[in-house]
Amino acid sequence: MKVLAVASECAPLVKTGGLADVVGALPKALAPHDVEIRTLLPAYAALVGVKAGKRTALGTLFGGEAAVVEATADDLDLLLLDAPHLFDRPGNPYLDETGADWPDNHLRFGGLCQAAAALAREGLDGWRPDVVHAHDWQAGLVPAYLRLGEGATPPTVVTIHNIAFQGLFSPVTIGDLGLPSSAFTAADGFEYYNQISFLKAGLVFADRLTTVSPSYARELMTPEFGMGLHGVLASRAGDLVGILNGVDTAVWDPQTDGDLAATYSGRARKGKAVNKAELERRFDLPMRPDGPLFCVVSRLTRQKGIDVLLEAIPRLVARGARLAVLGSGDADLEAGIRYATTTYPEQVSAVIGYDEPLSHLMQGGADAILIPSRFEPCGLTQLYGLRYGTIPVVARTGGLADTVIDANDAAMIAGCATGFQFAPVTPEALGDAIERVCDLHADQTAWRAMVGRAMRHPVGWDHAAHAYATLYRSLTATTTP
Ligand code: ADP
Repeated sequence: MKVLAVASECAPLVKTGGLADVVGALPKALAPHDVEIRTLLPAYAALVGVKAGKRTALGTLFGGEAAVVEATADDLDLLLLDAPHLFDRPGNPYLDETGADWPDNHLRFGGLCQAAAALAREGLDGWRPDVVHAHDWQAGLVPAYLRLGEGATPPTVVTIHNIAFQGLFSPVTIGDLGLPSSAFTAADGFEYYNQISFLKAGLVFADRLTTVSPSYARELMTPEFGMGLHGVLASRAGDLVGILNGVDTAVWDPQTDGDLAATYSGRARKGKAVNKAELERRFDLPMRPDGPLFCVVSRLTRQKGIDVLLEAIPRLVARGARLAVLGSGDADLEAGIRYATTTYPEQVSAVIGYDEPLSHLMQGGADAILIPSRFEPCGLTQLYGLRYGTIPVVARTGGLADTVIDANDAAMIAGCATGFQFAPVTPEALGDAIERVCDLHADQTAWRAMVGRAMRHPVGWDHAAHAYATLYRSLTATTTP
């Protein structure tokens, strides 16, 4: 089975978010399933050092010459779209030095999609994909170019990593992009409130749609979460599936993690106490044997429910618990966190900023991690929490709802709970969840049992790899003559 993946990011080479992690992880995870993935990626200036091989000219692409260069990096089989007029620019894949979107982003990613469509139809040196897998809006036009063009095409899959990003552009660009204006319709084309939507084009013209958790898949079909595309998604409900992301279990492994003060395992957890002491030292929190130490590792935004967290802090403090926050984001929420640290200096402390090594220590040292997101396509920090025995306390939404087993009575009696869920996302419900955590933490036998279960919960890519392989095979089974 040969798959052409198309994306604007791929970890560890180019990354601004979780999209890159998934695109970078899937080829390795799917190799044991006999799925060979080649990933088409723009040849950004930042990729200059990648080991390059054969070069094949593609001709003119939106005003300049383009070629595809075969390359390998980190066990990834890459096809780099070398189009200097579109991609040979410094910095972020999407933004110029001032932080504004590049004004020709429609041509840059439209060009990526046209090149992908050409490779999908014609192959490369006899290599022809059985399936094309397009990720997020940047690859959304691939199914449109294939479906609206002439002749047979391989089947297509589009994955939504976050529906908040839709790739909207003025309709005056339709001609430049080489799209037929007849498909600029709301009902069955790529029009979205009088703009072109790259993502909608993908959702309308792809054979199958996926997103990164089953709950987010259901939520996307509702007005509350669908960000205007809920109707399109509801009309394609039979073709939409949620497949949970995994995490890189080599990078996130408490037995080998070099950012921890002490490593530990599910069976031998003494190191966790050493990490807790180091965390208390780093955050200047007085050491206390009683009461849980909560942490937050997050962008400080409303999506992440940080405003709700601020209102729940007095209850957390009243229970004798403590809180360490690592994050950056909206100025008012950063100020709110700072205010809480001055109001409760003995119990609340924060590092405002982005610090990858410290994020590992927090997972290693805290007792529980709070994640009160309003929406969360999949979420990673609850998965790290499970793996590090840092009990996740999550809003019942998206991937959070799908990965944490709430400590309700049934789950406690059955001995399968791995954390706490709460809903709705209000200070009261979060406060109640914090109280439940404190109650369980007071019973150290029950607490330790839950930590052990959390650490045994599988969070790698095996499950997702099997699901994607099954999806690809279902497509070729129905479309191959
Ligand atoms: P999102 O992609 O919406 O921000 P995720 O939970 O999917 O949320 O991924 C967030 C990732 O960023 C996690 O790996 C988390 O550990 C990391 N992270 C978030 N904030 C910080 C921070 N301030 N310092 C270090 N890592 C952070």
